[in-house]
This record gives sequence, structure tokens and C-alpha cells, in this order.
Amino acid sequence: MQEKNALYVVATPIGNLGDISLRALEILKKADLIAAEHTQNTSQLLTAHAIRTQMIRLHQHNESATAEKIVSLLRAGKSIALVTDAGTPGISDPGAILIKHVRTQGYPAIPIPGANAAVCALSVSGHVNPHFLFYGFLTTKSGSRRRELSALKSQPYTLVFYEAPHRIIESLQDMMAIFGPQREVTVARELTKLFETIHTGPIEAILTGLQADPNQQKGEFVLLVTGADAIDKSVISDQAKHTLQCLLAELPLKQAVKLSADITHENKNSLYQLALQLKNQNP
Ligand code: SAM
Repeated sequence: MQEKNALYVVATPIGNLGDISLRALEILKKADLIAAEHTQNTSQLLTAHAIRTQMIRLHQHNESATAEKIVSLLRAGKSIALVTDAGTPGISDPGAILIKHVRTQGYPAIPIPGANAAVCALSVSGHVNPHFLFYGFLTTKSGSRRRELSALKSQPYTLVFYEAPHRIIESLQDMMAIFGPQREVTVARELTKLFETIHTGPIEAILTGLQADPNQQKGEFVLLVTGADAIDKSVISDQAKHTLQCLLAELPLKQAVKLSADITHENKNSLYQLALQLKNQNP
């Protein structure tokens, strides 16, 4: 049963309209008002589910003023649902200012969980590191973006970025410049939509693939970059590590990696990353 005097923070689909919970639909139907980032976008979702609840706009430029209005509605006993264009409100989306105001005024903000592009990408990435750092959008200018990336370079967690289609190439170029061409990246594009694609590989190879196919540069993107030192040494067998160490003592790095991969059938990129780490530890 729905509470009164509460703000419900409702996750909506990030593409596929079916990705919405039964609870979210019930809240959207029963709320007195829906605060939506763009009412036009949200009306498509509401129409698809025959929901006729009234809406007001809440976006990054009117969030403080609208927060006042919403608190006065809560005071009058109304229940309000907050949605954004896609995914979970407050995650690289408006919501935090409103929620803070609502809670400091003594009203509950109740989460109605659901789709989120970052978690969706992480769930299929196969990145074995259990720790991740959600960064969201990088800045739009290359100079400051490179400074941001440099600050992240040594983080041992999988790094999670959101990126717009017109900046995907330049962001990957900056990542390659700062993290190096062999750092592994997963590019998750158009998740839950018709042209969903998920590719993983060294930044250099992924970038070359994207540059060669303009269609792959369209849509919405999540980028997952392997953390520094996060090459999971446990997935490389002890025998392979030993082989690599012996060969590194005698041969140049690339040759040692190639031979180790041939002998042990381990992943060449993982061996390459491990070889770099071993070299750094014992130059
Ligand atoms: N609040 C949303 C969430 O919970 O994921 C994120 C909103 S943010 C303004 C939009 C960005 O999320 C896009 O530029 C893209 O980086 C990412 N994104 C959203 N939907 C996506 C999808 N279907 N596939 C890949 N990335 C997506």
C-alpha cells in the first residue's frame, strides 16, 4: 500500500519499455503527481502503460525552485513520484537536490529500483574485479579530460564512464593516451535496445574497430576500463606466471609474452599486462 507524504524515486527503462517493475508502475499510477525531467519523454512510457497521472517538469535548471513546490505538496498530504528520461534518478541525472531538500524537511524519499546503464553494463562485462568506481561523464574538453583520466590512472577498480556519441572517439583516444593502448575496455552501446553491442578488448583495438564503422559510433555508451593492477593474477595459472617470469629473464618483453601465450594458452593481453607489472617491479 502506498504511503502518503512521500517522494518516490522511480527508475524507468533505459531503452526497452518492458524494463520497469510492477511496483514502479503501481506508484506511477497512484501518485498524485509525477515530477519528470522531460514530460514528453515520460508521456510515452505512461501511455504505453495507460497511466494518466499529471506531470510537472523537474530538470537541472529548475530543480531548487521545483523542490520548494514539491515539499509544499508533500506538506499538503500528496505523494509525488520522481522520474528522469531513463534509468535511475540522481545517477548522472537530476534528483539529488530535490531529494536532499525533501529529506531535510522531514519527508521520506523512497527508492523504487530498476534499470541503470552502469550496472547493466557491469552485469555483462565479464570484468573479474569485484570492485568498481562509478565516474559518470568525463568533462567535455580534452585537456581537462586528460587531467581527470590521469587522476584515475592508478585506481585499482574497474572505472565506469558514461559517454555521448559525439565524444566517444575522442574520449577513447584520451584514454589510450593516459592508460596506454593495452588497458582493457568494454564498450557497451545501446543497452536493451535494438542495436545493442558489447565489445571488450585493448583500448587500441576497440578504438580502431569503432573508427572503422561509423554505425558503431551512434547511440548511448557505457565504458568500463580495467583498473590499474586489477589484472586478476588469479586467472593466470601459477604455471603460466612461472613460464612468463623465466622467459622475461632471458627475452625482450613482447617475445616473452608471445612465447608464454603459445606455451600456456593463457590470454595474451593478461600476460602482457602481467609482464608490464613484473618489469615495473623488477626493472
Ligand atoms: N540515470 C541514468 C542511469 O541510471 O543509467 C543515466 C542518465 S545519463 C543522463 C545518460 C547516459 O547514460 C548516456 O549518455 C549513456 O552514457 C548512459 N546510458 C543511458 N542509457 C543507455 C543505454 N541504453 N545504453 C548505454 N548507455 C546508456
